[in-house]
Amino acid sequence: MKSSSPPSPPKLFSHLYIERGVLEHPQTQRIRAKFADSQVILIDHYKEVFNRPAQSFAAQSGSKKLILARKEGKFLHEGSQYSDGFGTEQFFYASSVMGCLYDCDYCYLQGLYPSANTVLFVNLEDAFEQLRPYLGKDTLVATSYDTDTMAIESLTHQTLRWLEFAVEHEHLHLEIRTKSANFKALKNTTPSPRVTLAWTLSPQEIINTYEHATPSIEKRLNAAEEAIAAGWNVRLCIDPVIYTENFDILYPKLIETIFATIDPNAIEHLTLGSFRMSQNHLRALKKLRRSDVAFYPYSVSDEMATYPEAIETYILETLMAKAHQYLPKERIRTWQRQL
Ligand code: SF4
Repeated sequence: MKSSSPPSPPKLFSHLYIERGVLEHPQTQRIRAKFADSQVILIDHYKEVFNRPAQSFAAQSGSKKLILARKEGKFLHEGSQYSDGFGTEQFFYASSVMGCLYDCDYCYLQGLYPSANTVLFVNLEDAFEQLRPYLGKDTLVATSYDTDTMAIESLTHQTLRWLEFAVEHEHLHLEIRTKSANFKALKNTTPSPRVTLAWTLSPQEIINTYEHATPSIEKRLNAAEEAIAAGWNVRLCIDPVIYTENFDILYPKLIETIFATIDPNAIEHLTLGSFRMSQNHLRALKKLRRSDVAFYPYSVSDEMATYPEAIETYILETLMAKAHQYLPKERIRTWQRQL
């Protein structure tokens, strides 16, 4: 008897919504050519689709649409209290994509956006113009804000455009943070000492439960290893740590797994940080009722929800002690709220 084949996965970007104003932009034309079979719908403004009322984030997550648009306002946002600027004089996030191909239960985007679809702002050249006045002194830009840019690099080429721009500006430092295994997108690019590729790592059990559609820990580590071998600065981030009943087993084992693959001397830093979120985003996440992460009894201070202090300290002390078996303390960075 013929065995039945598994159902096909949903087609990526079956529909392209394109603002009329960017139809002739070279990035739009390149992306259209890649998705020649997708249905194209012309729109006046991305908000007509992205901000439509009564959308279901959960339903759209299984069949995301791509919206190509022009960003009219600021591409750059000042670094926030939730993240580490690594001591650079100026720290910005660049927001050139809204939405993410991945679907993490704990992602604040669910609380931020009315839609699970992806908006790609094709006019990245305007981000570079906005950044130029700051480039007289050391400036860090995290290019993967509100998305995972490497996950869609093959489509957008935005990381490559950032890298080309950084070559020309000696004070510009980039952090490209990802869960993707897509290092091959940068394989033909010369590594820059001012660029750090940062991989977010989680135990496979946490990936299975909370980080839907993301690559396995094995694939992420292999990608990080390839990047190191090619000469890139690599940072590894166990952040956010999700505190589950198996925390004591899962996360120390993760650190063992990491350093069974990666030479500790070859990485810039290991970053540790427990789950945290603005109270507003957490409220919106709760409304979606998708995950137990949203319903943990967090402690809230200054509008930031974190694990209660004793748990947060326990998480960081446990992981710091384990990581210290492989790395000196100065190469382990921790995020902890200021009390
Ligand atoms: S990879 Fe990051 S941006 Fe994408 S869904 Fe997960 S947490 Fe959100």
